[in-house]
Formats: sequence, C-alpha cells, structure tokens
Amino acid sequence: LSSPQPGAQRISVCVRKRPLTCTERRAGEADVVTALSGECVIVHESKEAVDLTEYILQHRFYFDQVFGEESSNEEVYRRTAYPLVQHMLNGGKATCFAYGQTGAGKTHTMLGSSPGRPGLYALAVRDIFAHLSTTHTRSPLLVYVSFFEIYCGQLYDLLDHRKRLFAREDGQKVVHIAGLRDVRVDSVSSLLEVISQGTEERTQGMSGVNPLSSRSHALLQIQLRRLNQQIAGRMWFVDLAGSERASDTKEPDRQSRMEGAEINQSLLALKECIRSLDQEQSHTPFRQSKLTQVLKDSFVGDSMTCMIANISPGHLATEHTLNTLRYADREG
Ligand code: ADP
Ligand code: MG
Repeated sequence: LSSPQPGAQRISVCVRKRPLTCTERRAGEADVVTALSGECVIVHESKEAVDLTEYILQHRFYFDQVFGEESSNEEVYRRTAYPLVQHMLNGGKATCFAYGQTGAGKTHTMLGSSPGRPGLYALAVRDIFAHLSTTHTRSPLLVYVSFFEIYCGQLYDLLDHRKRLFAREDGQKVVHIAGLRDVRVDSVSSLLEVISQGTEERTQGMSGVNPLSSRSHALLQIQLRRLNQQIAGRMWFVDLAGSERASDTKEPDRQSRMEGAEINQSLLALKECIRSLDQEQSHTPFRQSKLTQVLKDSFVGDSMTCMIANISPGHLATEHTLNTLRYADREG
C-alpha cells in the first residue's frame, strides 16, 4: 500500500461550527462561537459575576482548519476527506472521524441532510467512481462497502439485520471482523440506498429518551478491490457516538452509566491512538477499546487520518463545545 503524497498531512484536525437552528433562534439562543481566519475558533463564555455584572471569558483554539456556518459539505469535503480519497485511490488507507456532541452536525457532515446536500460519504464515492471511470487499468477495480455500529463494546452489522459480529486478530496481528457483510456498489445512488437501509436498521433499535444513534459509533468502510478480491485501497468514515454521553457515568440508571463509561473509554482510547500516530510513537494503545481495535490498521504505517470536531454555536451548549475543542486540541 502506498505512502501519502509528499506534502500531504498525515493527520489533520478540523473544527466545523453549524448555524443556529430555527428552534434555537426562536428560543433566543445566542451564538457564542466565532470562527476566525480559517484556523482559529473563539468561544465566548459569559458568567454572572458576584456583583451581577456580566463578564466574558474568551477561549481561543487553533486547528488545521476551522469551518464556519457558511461552509457547505462540499467545501468541508474538499478540504478534509478529499486528500484521503486521493490517498486511497493510490492504494492507501485513510480514516475520517466526525466527533462532537449530539446535535452538533456529525451526521449532517457524513451523510448530509437531504438529497440535495450530500455528505462526505456520497462525495467521496462520487470522486471514487469518477476516478475509476477515467483510469484504465488492466485489472478493473470494484467498490465494496460495509456498515456496522459499535454499541457498548459490541459490533452489529447494519447491513445484515443488526447481526452480532466479532472482531479477531489473526496470526499476522491483522484484525478481521468475521461475517461482516459487504455489498458491492456501482454508483453513488446505490451507495446511498445501502446506507439508508443501514441507517434505518440503526434507528430501529431505538429505546428510551436518547436515540441509539447518539449512543453508538457508526462505521462505514469503503474498499477498492481487484477482481481477485485483493484490496487496492480502503477508507473508513466514522460517525462517533455523542461525546456528551461520555459524561453519563453518574446517571441514575445502570444502562446509561454503562453506555457512558463505554463511550468515554472508546473516545479516550481514540484520542490516545491519534496522538501516538501524531507523535510517531512505536506503541499504539489500540487494544483499549473495541473502536480502536477494529480501526487498528488506521493507526499504523502509511495511514491518513482526519478528525472533524463538530460544534454547536448556542450558549446553552458552551460547556460541551469547550469539551469538544479541548478533546480535539492536539496540544491538550
Ligand atoms: P449529530 O449527528 O451530531 O447529532 P446532526 O447532524 O443530526 O447532529 O445535526 C443536528 C441538526 O442540525 C440537524 O437538523 C441538521 O440538519 C442540522 N445541521 C447540522 N449541521 C448543519 C450545517 N452545517 N448546516 C445546516 N444545518 C446543519
Ligand atoms: Mg447523528
């Protein structure tokens, strides 16, 4: 498998701020996030002082890129996942994560919100097919996708009626997911059909107050294969569980506590794995969670990684927004 193009960044961490929703606007929520100069984001925190005059704290963070509410999925794609797709088309491995509080825009980024506004999944596959149709190789390349979720440390196949799956490491220390269904797609619309099937599966398991989608990680894998099934490039898109759930460890009910602890652990493990890749450490602690174990391949060698930290602009979300920015901060 190939190395990233010279000059291409192996790891990039970006922030995307969404606009206030109509509901937030109507409720009079203030927009407390400023995206500055493409690389800086400021969160204005207001506190009631003892003498009841308001004072404002400014928190400033720097990232590889910051996208404001005016940025479209197309623009975000161009500057985040696109280089990863190119790397994959050169035979490489790449992973793109959407991180953030529930409601901050992860699914809008990955899946899109309506057919007219496709997300990163569809934009990537569009470029993959465009590339394949213009490049003539002796052995044609086929595109396969698989889609599963990790909930409480367990794997469920979203393309096979939420069948329980198991990940195992083989003698060569390669992680395999036994029985994971993969589907060949031959167009963007067939990809979207497969994904919408899987997404429906995902919400059917819904119970209680919090939708399951906020409590599980959804992993979409796209593979390029030759006719002999040899892998010629692969890419993951990961729509992570709501980061606010990681603090549910003090909830009164046991299930929520368990889910919260599991999410907390997997997000911390993810941060450590990305950090060890960033600092080119020889040891990557990928065994610390199911999420990082399944993605082991993404944390070694010539892999490219992009993290998109999604944030809400509203003042009621300030604490979660700061937590997200601190999580994504590479210096932190
Ligand atoms: P998450 O997946 O992080 O829980 P969603 O992607 O479902 O959040 O976003 C929550 C709501 O905000 C949705 O109604 C979505 O359409 C809207 N939204 C999110 N990001 C944007 C954006 N960049 N522009 C416009 N609307 C957005
Ligand atoms: Mg979502």
